[in-house]
Amino acid sequence: MTLSLQFIGCGDAFASGGRFNTCFHLVGKRTNLLIDCGASSLVAMKQLGVDRNAIATIVVTHFHADHFGGIPFFILDAQFFSKRREPLTIVGPVGLAEWYERVMETAFPGSSGVSQKFALDLVEIAAGDSVTVNDVTVRAFQAVHGPPDGPYYAVRVEAEGKSVAYAGDSEWTPALVPAARDADLFIAEAYFRDKSIATHLSLNAIEAHLDELRPKRLILTHMSDDMLNHPDRARFQTAEDGMTIEIG
Ligand SMILES: [Zn+2]
Ligand SMILES: [Zn+2]
Repeated sequence: MTLSLQFIGCGDAFASGGRFNTCFHLVGKRTNLLIDCGASSLVAMKQLGVDRNAIATIVVTHFHADHFGGIPFFILDAQFFSKRREPLTIVGPVGLAEWYERVMETAFPGSSGVSQKFALDLVEIAAGDSVTVNDVTVRAFQAVHGPPDGPYYAVRVEAEGKSVAYAGDSEWTPALVPAARDADLFIAEAYFRDKSIATHLSLNAIEAHLDELRPKRLILTHMSDDMLNHPDRARFQTAEDGMTIEIG
């Protein structure tokens, strides 16, 4: 089996296009990992029949609800319904342990103190650093997505000899170049076609830097209605909920 990635959800925070929040599922011989787990991701995983207990690692790019808000649902499902016994590692920005408690307590008061029937490891990673967990190396890059400095990350995941880069939510920043350069797959936010705004990436900005990024494959995600309805969308591969692609 080769490495494959399924878009569990490729939507933004506002369900543009009726799409689920961001969640990508990377699966290989020794790899079973989510990149982000947005508020609606458990619904999407159940629709798609994803075996949640097989997921060893969840990589979180930032703590916005459309990327991180599904964690309480995932954890409670694991505890009460999926009967998880396998260890779970969550890799995320600095502050993850504090944000984990916040999101759990906000969603289900009292839940952060409950001891799970599985080992839960929260691994914080600083921008510019990398960590290897469950045979996968995760590299974090500083994204630019709002005040003051995040933490907001772009990530590059290296597994089984392949690389998957994800821009996260970010306006254009040179940090996206080392994150995405020569990646087997680069998943890039294309929030607008032309409009240049702080905090989000436009397709224009991606195009302007493609010769530096040089991804082997580019797939656009996290599109607003502006981009979803733009005729230029047809010139690029765009993510769809449930779509699976082979990598390499
Ligand atoms: Zn987002
Ligand atoms: Zn965001």
